[in-house]
Amino acid sequence: MMPLVSSTPLLAAARAHKYGVGAFNVHTLEMLQAVVEAAEETQSPLILQTTVGTVKHLGPEYIVAAANVAANLASVPIALHLDHCTDFDLIVRCIRAGYTSVMIDASMHPFAENVRLTQKVVEVARAAGVNIEAELGKVGGVEDDIVVAEHDALMADPDECARFVELTGVPTLAPAIGTAHGMYKGEPNIDFDRIGLIASKVDVPLVLHGGSGIPEEQVKRCVSLGMAKMNIATEIRIVFSDAIKSIFAQNPDENDPRKYMVPAKKAVKEAAIAKMTMLGSIGKAKDAGK
Ligand SMILES: [Zn+2]
Repeated sequence: MMPLVSSTPLLAAARAHKYGVGAFNVHTLEMLQAVVEAAEETQSPLILQTTVGTVKHLGPEYIVAAANVAANLASVPIALHLDHCTDFDLIVRCIRAGYTSVMIDASMHPFAENVRLTQKVVEVARAAGVNIEAELGKVGGVEDDIVVAEHDALMADPDECARFVELTGVPTLAPAIGTAHGMYKGEPNIDFDRIGLIASKVDVPLVLHGGSGIPEEQVKRCVSLGMAKMNIATEIRIVFSDAIKSIFAQNPDENDPRKYMVPAKKAVKEAAIAKMTMLGSIGKAKDAGK
């Protein structure tokens, strides 16, 4: 039996050994179980992740309870992360409920204000043994109701990243390097040189947002350069929903949720295993101390 763990040691081990940990956004119990089964089957460390919207939809206490059951039953280390939060009070509420990792997204503010807001979260989260992630620059696309026009998606500056980590003491950093939330229309325009430069100046694990639909070769290159966590949201939402749609297309009168949740869960599990394979996290559960 092992409760949820902080993602700090999981990600430190990942960066040190050059693999990535998949952070999957889940919205239902079945999605949560699917990614946990994928991690268990492949012996991968796992980060369960929820958006602020999902926290409001289900309530942090329900999410923490389900995630804790998963962690206690699993043989792999599992962390629970709050994605893109701008609300300090909600971050505190999630920490109190039992989240083991939180993201303060103050990237829309000027540098000094981002530093100040991140410092405030680092103070409370660190005291609770909880991991903290912050963002510099702007990731394009749509995340819940935060919309950033692609053209003003700003890249993170490597020197600013170094100063930011030094000033805030943040243990994980999400620098904007050209990825976007949602699925890509063409190929993502990732600035690999920038990742390398940032990684040379910052020794904390880096986080790749917008992981849905990035081609395998590019994921591997990002990981080899220092990206230790990749967020996957849209892609598993699509496979989950598509599986349900196809059941209803065949049988519009289906009214037993188990009948459509079983294939939906299977689809998410398969997609999660594919991402874990791409990230090189297969068999790395023991790396992170479980
Ligand atoms: Zn994101």
